Amino acid sequence: MLTQYRTVEKVVNDNLCMGCGVCSSICPENAIQIGMDQKRGYFVPSIDNDACNYCGQMKNGKCVIVCPGVEVDFQKLGNRWVNGNAEADILGSFVKTVYAHSKDENIRYRSSSGGLIPTLLIFALTENIIDGAIVVKSDEDNPLIPRGILATTSEEIKAASGSKYCSAHIGEPLSEILKTDGKYAVVGLPCHIHGIRKWEQMTPGIAEKIVLHLGLYCANNNTIFATEYFLWQKYIDPEQVKNIRYRGKGWPGNIIVTLKDGTMKEIKRGTTETSWQRKLLFSSAFHYDFQIPRCLTCVDLTAELADISFADPWNKRFLLKESKGKSMLVIRNEIGMQLVDKAILNGIIASEEADSSEVRLSQNIEFKKRAPSRVWIRQILGLPAPVYKGKSYKKRVWDIFSYGNYYMSYVTVFPVARLFLPIVRICRWIINSSNRIMKKYFRQGK
Ligand SMILES: Cc1cc2nc3c(=O)[nH]c(=O)nc-3n(C[C@H](O)[C@H](O)[C@H](O)COP(=O)(O)OP(=O)(O)OC[C@H]3O[C@@H](n4cnc5c(N)ncnc54)[C@H](O)[C@@H]3O)c2cc1C
Ligand code: SF4
Ligand code: SF4
Ligand code: SF4
Repeated sequence: MLTQYRTVEKVVNDNLCMGCGVCSSICPENAIQIGMDQKRGYFVPSIDNDACNYCGQMKNGKCVIVCPGVEVDFQKLGNRWVNGNAEADILGSFVKTVYAHSKDENIRYRSSSGGLIPTLLIFALTENIIDGAIVVKSDEDNPLIPRGILATTSEEIKAASGSKYCSAHIGEPLSEILKTDGKYAVVGLPCHIHGIRKWEQMTPGIAEKIVLHLGLYCANNNTIFATEYFLWQKYIDPEQVKNIRYRGKGWPGNIIVTLKDGTMKEIKRGTTETSWQRKLLFSSAFHYDFQIPRCLTCVDLTAELADISFADPWNKRFLLKESKGKSMLVIRNEIGMQLVDKAILNGIIASEEADSSEVRLSQNIEFKKRAPSRVWIRQILGLPAPVYKGKSYKKRVWDIFSYGNYYMSYVTVFPVARLFLPIVRICRWIINSSNRIMKKYFRQGK
């Protein structure tokens, strides 16, 4: 697979790029610029062919070697950086699973889950474990397109709290830390962490610079058209948006939109929504129809190569009881363990050990479970597909059809196609409901 690529230009053309930005930082010739592709709706690299020297005529350029869109060797990277190899289990390998929340009520209230990420980062900063952290922040000039930044103060870390459910690259802050001495943390989606681990594997000195990897669970991610479409459906002109927070105000939280005229709108999310039509609209925008195409073939839900992974505990008992916010942590190595233990000892966070089987059940894993079959269908069709080494995945013929369920993510880049989404939603609802009824019927029959 790797042999097909000399630079990442073809990775983009093959729809295997999700816009992490790592390639732009590694290029020795500064030949890669990451920018928002207004047609695709996500960040992609563009290459200055005059500046590129194919890294001194290597078979694969360095940009290709680090690219998580092309290949991830879970065995090699897992053995080196986390607690050993992670079999086919969705949770990956880990030392301990924990439920926790920040003792800073403001951070907890504003964050997506229990505010553990900003709290641990600020703690690591004050303890001189790190000099700064790569985080993703809403851009004041362009609130629907977030930016990766290097935060060096607790205020900057707090300002970047909260999930942004859209494409975000961390190329610029990664390049920034190369120019400075110091030790840094990175917060990223599983694919960001894959790219960074590959970089650390390839280039001596990088692992000494990036000393903490905080990974977010990620079922899927969306093009910037997802938020635009959702806002239009709520009669909000995206051009009039001054700020958007996808989560916060307690747990599970709502979407809070501040308009340029100062008006504030609070919109329910899929989990809190009561009307079935609005639930369908939410999942159309944020789960089905606007996914970045590469996400359809991504197998990592839980950021298996991070030091610590962070998620929401979507279990019933939390959904019924929790209103302030709780984070679910999968601690994967000694680095993660030491940080969490120290934060507990210092009274910064409150925590309780979590049963790992409950942690496994906290997520809807169906989408990711079908990813290997979507990789398979691409291979059958002769389309380039990502290679995952060191894990064995079940491919199921029936799951191939799940590719069709998400095919709209290739189509919704065309504004006219979005007009048909209400019909698509109804059809999908009928198909999914019949599927569920059939499964129940066959299970009862056994
Ligand atoms: C695209 C996406 C998909 C997710 N999918 C799931 C899921 O399927 N299941 C689940 O349980 N949890 C998922 N999460 C994680 C969850 O939403 C929370 O981010 C996580 O639990 C941490 O919450 P917190 O309260 O500790 O931190 P918060 O205060 O919410 O801080 C989040 C941190 O993540 C960084 N960040 C925000 N958006 C991005 C982004 N797009 N790319 C990189 N970094 C970012 C911020 O800079 C901040 O430092 C997802 C997050 C994102 C961004
Ligand atoms: S092949 Fe090397 S020089 Fe060319 S763009 Fe990629 S990293 Fe840069
Ligand atoms: S390294 Fe990231 S941004 Fe670069 S081509 Fe690969 S996926 Fe895209
Ligand atoms: S689904 Fe996978 S490829 Fe897509 S953003 Fe999430 S981690 Fe990255």
